[in-house]
Amino acid sequence: MERTKFILDEKDMPTSWYNVLPDLPTPLPPVLHPGTGKPIGPEDMAPLFPMDIIMQEFSPQRWIEIPEEVQDVYKIWRPTVLYRARRLEKALDTPAKIFYKYEGSSPAGSHKPNTAVAQAYYNKKAGTKRLATETGAGQWGSSLAFACMLFGLELKVYMVKVSYTQKPYRRMMMETWGAKCIPSPSNDTKAGRDILAKDPQSPGSLGIAISEAIEDAVTSKDTKYAIGSVVNHVLLHQTVIGLEAKKQMEMAGFYPDIIVGCVGGGSNFGGMFLPFIKDKIDKKRPDLRIICAEPASCPSITKGVCAYDFGDTAGMTPLMKMYTLGHTFMPPPVHAGGLRYHGMAPIVSHLYNLNLIEAKAVPQVATFEAGVRFARTEGFISAPETNHAIRVAIDEALKCKESGEAKTILIAHSGHGHFDMAAYEQYLSGQLSDYEYPEARVKEALASLPKVG
Ligand SMILES: *Cc1c(COP(=O)(O)O)cnc(C)c1O
Repeated sequence: MERTKFILDEKDMPTSWYNVLPDLPTPLPPVLHPGTGKPIGPEDMAPLFPMDIIMQEFSPQRWIEIPEEVQDVYKIWRPTVLYRARRLEKALDTPAKIFYKYEGSSPAGSHKPNTAVAQAYYNKKAGTKRLATETGAGQWGSSLAFACMLFGLELKVYMVKVSYTQKPYRRMMMETWGAKCIPSPSNDTKAGRDILAKDPQSPGSLGIAISEAIEDAVTSKDTKYAIGSVVNHVLLHQTVIGLEAKKQMEMAGFYPDIIVGCVGGGSNFGGMFLPFIKDKIDKKRPDLRIICAEPASCPSITKGVCAYDFGDTAGMTPLMKMYTLGHTFMPPPVHAGGLRYHGMAPIVSHLYNLNLIEAKAVPQVATFEAGVRFARTEGFISAPETNHAIRVAIDEALKCKESGEAKTILIAHSGHGHFDMAAYEQYLSGQLSDYEYPEARVKEALASLPKVG
């Protein structure tokens, strides 16, 4: 009987995060100050983040020790299990071997606590009393609420209004862990009031909520900002996923031919593939394929441009060189699958430009079809985001069926979908439709890109 799961001991958990920055074939383009157009330094970021985090953002060190206190919290749910998807393989009748690393077993139900816990820890250590953040559907807000509860920090979450109204359960999770959550755009910040003045019915967007959280952090006492994706330190913290997976794949006796993951801002997938990409950069595994799955309705890598852009709508963040749909981009309301951010992690964008990773945009009906197939074979009901990765993995496994190749496919499984059953219901009742973001709207949003240099 072949094994179904590969489990590490607590003592085999990684004790350092892997920092890819010193191993990049060419350096990451600098982050620019929006006013001066000059590269920013650590002091420019000090109003937002504690110094330990800022140092990690720019660190030239390959390995960064995970503080004992953070490792201790990780042990609540880590190491996470690597599964062999034997039932899915059988149903697809494919010679491919499919594995998935399951991050849905954390208290918040996704990979996001991996960085939330680290960020709360460093803030506590630096004397921060309160954090402000944004959240879309609530996965990041609930993860940070969990982490702030553990380290005794206050938290205010600006939640995109349309999700706040339509997805109450994650707000209730945040409140259960002791955080405050309000709909964004709100009247509590100038950024929010400006949007409401122009459009009182604004459904909100991640970009708007980020502007509000940043304004809150820089204008309130003892308050800092925390971000759940995109930036270097978040991808760094998420490398616990890939570091564990690498050991577990060794236990299983395979090295992946293909690694797939979904990308919103790029953190769960970056965390998975970065520890593997070193082998590709070093030409030890030149044929390793790394595929980013993104929604056709918010296609930052496949339809956006790689340019300097703001991380938020109001234009308060430093400028990052990344694949972007423009910081004024608003995802279409029919889109149920998450992954709505206008930009992409600079590290992921850079690796894409270096041809070290690939990207695929997938329409949402096909992602739910894949998610239901996964649920009906493997059992787990996955987050709509994760379903993008499962779709691409199934497509690759079906190609193997045609070619007769027994490739090894590793899926970054970012979380469960227990709070997304309304989207599953829409799919199951045939009410979900595909939506390709119109080229003209993409052009319109791209016209708002800041001029640099
Ligand atoms: C937030 C989230 C994502 C997308 O964010 P990344 O930073 O790209 O990982 C994907 N899956 C789940 C379950 C999430 O909660």
